[in-house]
Amino acid sequence: MSRRWTFVLLGAAACSGDAPFAPSTPPLPSQDAEATEATVASYSEVHGWSIILGDAAGRVWIAQTDAGAPTVTSSGRTWTATLWARLDSAPVARDLTLRMGVFVHSDQAGSVGRVVALLRWVLADRGVVLASGDQGGALRQDPRHGVLRAHGRASGLSVGRLRFEAISDTPMPTAPVDDGPPAPRVVVRTPAVVSLRIDDCMAADAAAFHMMHALGLVAEMAIPSRRLDRPGHCTQGLLQAMVADGNTVESHSRWHVSAPPSFGDFYLETVGAALDLRGRGFDPHVFIQPGTWRHGPTLFDGAAKLRSPYFELLRRVYVATEAYAWPAAMRLPVTGRQGPDHWPLKVFTPVALATKLRQAAADSTWITFMWHMWDMPLPELEARLRVIAALRDSGLVTVLPYYPALRAVRH
Ligand SMILES: [Zn+2]
Repeated sequence: MSRRWTFVLLGAAACSGDAPFAPSTPPLPSQDAEATEATVASYSEVHGWSIILGDAAGRVWIAQTDAGAPTVTSSGRTWTATLWARLDSAPVARDLTLRMGVFVHSDQAGSVGRVVALLRWVLADRGVVLASGDQGGALRQDPRHGVLRAHGRASGLSVGRLRFEAISDTPMPTAPVDDGPPAPRVVVRTPAVVSLRIDDCMAADAAAFHMMHALGLVAEMAIPSRRLDRPGHCTQGLLQAMVADGNTVESHSRWHVSAPPSFGDFYLETVGAALDLRGRGFDPHVFIQPGTWRHGPTLFDGAAKLRSPYFELLRRVYVATEAYAWPAAMRLPVTGRQGPDHWPLKVFTPVALATKLRQAAADSTWITFMWHMWDMPLPELEARLRVIAALRDSGLVTVLPYYPALRAVRH
């Protein structure tokens, strides 16, 4: 516990006593007793919690339970926990306790079948409260993500008034991502490097794979992890075959829906997608921003947004993020952790594509192209891939997926 917490600790109010039935609380949506019962039952199965705290100035903290089983007492379930104030860095406090409790609350009229379950929590350091969600938040199941969630008011830390979002069983990594050992790296001997990317994981990507395999080309697959194996989308088997052939599988959110409405939704789409892909045996290093995140803090289109807690979280989980903020051509080897922004492959005729690649060779740059399966009829895609393969054969360009290109060195 660092010195800067002293003021916080003195200012923090003691937690109100827990009781199995809470006194009256602000109005909350009611749900039927059966749904509440199911929610409370799944609450007792939770292995760990992440609590996102945000203040009005846009600062974000995350308190997360450590691995291991909680201590269960009449006042709740207590884990050891860790607190982060910068999401791409080391924690500001360890060996804390996070006590969670769920309280079944009858509505004002007390009529049978109208109840809510409230999640309350207290984050403490050796018995001294650091932050708490005393009033709690309605505990609900989120079927889209398969987790329990609650949100509401909180207090504590240095700021007093906070909002919290609690999310079950979706831990962020305890340490920021490690870019791995320096070797072996791909050695580039051509003037230009070209990366190819297929977005959104469609069943018809299998046809592109066969074409690329025949031409000796490889690409990065940008996968919305929860669409995998659904009708019309690509399959686990296709991705495994592609990885075995030298393609890479990277994260493209979970659901690829519109911009996340809260930090918690962003957390589930980014941390959750990495957990999903790891659970399927892949090893994602890159986050590809969905084109559907068109506004707000998750549209990473400028330098200020790259200093936000949103981008800090991405830097914790992924080595690199492909976003609109980067230039569209870079020299190799790169100096930081980011590669160039992409060009849509469909906007180049084969002739224009050949010109673009020759220019990249003249400039000694790394450029990337992206397509969706629906962008072009297959023969048009094939014509473009043949141009790339021909320039590869002539010794002008090396074709590498984004992550190995990011780590490549020059001869
Ligand atoms: Zn996409």
